[in-house]
Amino acid sequence: MQKQGNIKISSENMMPIIKKWLYSDKDIFLREIVANAADAITKHKKLAGLGETAAEEKYRIDVRIDEKAGTLTVEDNGIGMTAEEVETYITQIAFSGAADFVEKYEKAGGDGIIGHFGLGFYSAYMVSENIEIFTKSYREDAPAVRWESDGNSTYTIGDCDKTTRGTKIVMHIASEEKEFLKTSVIRGLLNKYCSFMPYEIYFNAKGEDDKPVNTVEPLYTKQPKDCTEEEYKTFYRETFSDFNEPLFWIHLNMEYPFRLKGILYFPKVRKQVQLERGQVKLYCNRVYIADNIKEVIPEFLMLLNGVIDCPDIPLNVSRSFLQNDSGVQKIAKHITKKVADRLTELYKKDKEKYEACWSDIATFVKFGCIKNDDFYNKIKDVIIYKDLSGEYRPLTGFFGEEVSDEDAKEGKEPQPVYYVSDESKQAQYISMFKEAGLNAIVCDTYIDPHFISYIEYKNPKRVRFLRIDADVAEALKEAGGDEDKEIVDIFTAALGDRKIKIKAEKLKNAAVPAVINVPEFLRRMSEMNEFYKMGDTPAEMTLIVNTANAAVNAMRTADAESQKTVAEQFYFSALMNYRALTPEELEQFSLNNTALIEKYLRK
Ligand code: ADP
Repeated sequence: MQKQGNIKISSENMMPIIKKWLYSDKDIFLREIVANAADAITKHKKLAGLGETAAEEKYRIDVRIDEKAGTLTVEDNGIGMTAEEVETYITQIAFSGAADFVEKYEKAGGDGIIGHFGLGFYSAYMVSENIEIFTKSYREDAPAVRWESDGNSTYTIGDCDKTTRGTKIVMHIASEEKEFLKTSVIRGLLNKYCSFMPYEIYFNAKGEDDKPVNTVEPLYTKQPKDCTEEEYKTFYRETFSDFNEPLFWIHLNMEYPFRLKGILYFPKVRKQVQLERGQVKLYCNRVYIADNIKEVIPEFLMLLNGVIDCPDIPLNVSRSFLQNDSGVQKIAKHITKKVADRLTELYKKDKEKYEACWSDIATFVKFGCIKNDDFYNKIKDVIIYKDLSGEYRPLTGFFGEEVSDEDAKEGKEPQPVYYVSDESKQAQYISMFKEAGLNAIVCDTYIDPHFISYIEYKNPKRVRFLRIDADVAEALKEAGGDEDKEIVDIFTAALGDRKIKIKAEKLKNAAVPAVINVPEFLRRMSEMNEFYKMGDTPAEMTLIVNTANAAVNAMRTADAESQKTVAEQFYFSALMNYRALTPEELEQFSLNNTALIEKYLRK
């Protein structure tokens, strides 16, 4: 007996929308069809568990391409459907589900539903011109059913001779979608979307020795205590095709108040120049949804690699809804906390390993703090920096006492923490610091300038950062020492035309005749202007002449010409320790040098 019917319920123009608008993501149809097959198996398994029907020995899903016939078939041995169920579930529920999806999709402005989750059975019409369903219910008295439709409002339903329980969906691939008949394409889609589905999926199965294309029990679904280090590494390699070993990982496993499973891996970073984007794959009940969904996973965690399976996230809603959903925010918070806990635990239990990994994870940690106050608050005690002796020390260890409001009113500033941004360029300053018994931290990654500003902003009363060349005088001068007008005058006369301030100070280190000093605040301003391309505000430089230096003192009695030449040379050498000389400066430096040598030799 054959029967015709109308699918059409409300939205007449649903199919064109599904076909055209979702064009960019039409791949997902295979996920939807295979997920339905898996659901049908789960239902059968449950019934068998309740003793309502005989259990199946081997549940499986088969995906097959028949290139000649132009069909892609997905077959399961799940619960199957009776004729009434096909009418209800496919022509009514599935259809209205799809219509509902399209409505939400339109409201969300096209691309707003994550991973196009929840479109369901009708998504297969994105690639099919016609679909047949052959199905036989687990109810033994129900005859097998064949349903067919081109997706345009009419369908045919009738009996068929399917003898095995379950459902077979035969998609007649549209002529312009022939790529979905290619083995490599379908294999790729199965790998992407179905890798962790809970029942074995076979692709173009031929015989006994076929292997499923998926892993029915992915590592993240196990209890952490049952997983070995080797298994974690293998899972990482296979899931992310990264042959570098991960540094360490976090196994998330939570049941209450929401379900969340997954593994986050800290990858080795190859270079420090840029934030390397990782890949955090989001799954919902073993079904792949999409990568790097910032509405669910805090953005900074996307520098990691990982899989997260969270069945409680409402995915068939708009992105803006998800962003404001308190449940989703709790999930994001939980993940953040777990990451902070894991890092803290590693620091406490295995400092050596933590320090060895630090250069790989530092950018991640700092970026995470800047992006997420919660994360900073949990992690602040395990942020470490190398000091001038090359040893790692916690940053908070450099902080001073809190400056009281009263003291602040009187101009008292928090204790400075000196930092080095380039060990080779700032070598002169470093050796002066070391000799004077002072310490500094090494801040040489590109994120450090932003990070130290963030730390100052979070701890305004306890810390301020000064680059090692910023306040040399403050750090290195001998106590007491008056303004040395004579020396200042000599240098002012010699360098008057150059835009530079001159100060004379008695420094602790006598060997260095002069150093350049650029106030921290002005230097940061000029760096920022450069960064935002706002034209340059040349940073204001001060030449600090060291009155503890013997050559400087010898200048007092020299003739005016020698004073000028020597002052220039001291200025150029100080400058060279700060930046490269311009061609003009270099030329003058060489001329002076020759003149001085000649004078010395003629004596
Ligand atoms: P959803 O899976 O979200 O319910 P679908 O449109 O994908 O929406 O499917 C609608 C319904 O059709 C399912 O809920 C199920 O009852 C039925 N169905 C779809 N595929 C199968 C299948 N392979 N076996 C049994 N029933 C199915």
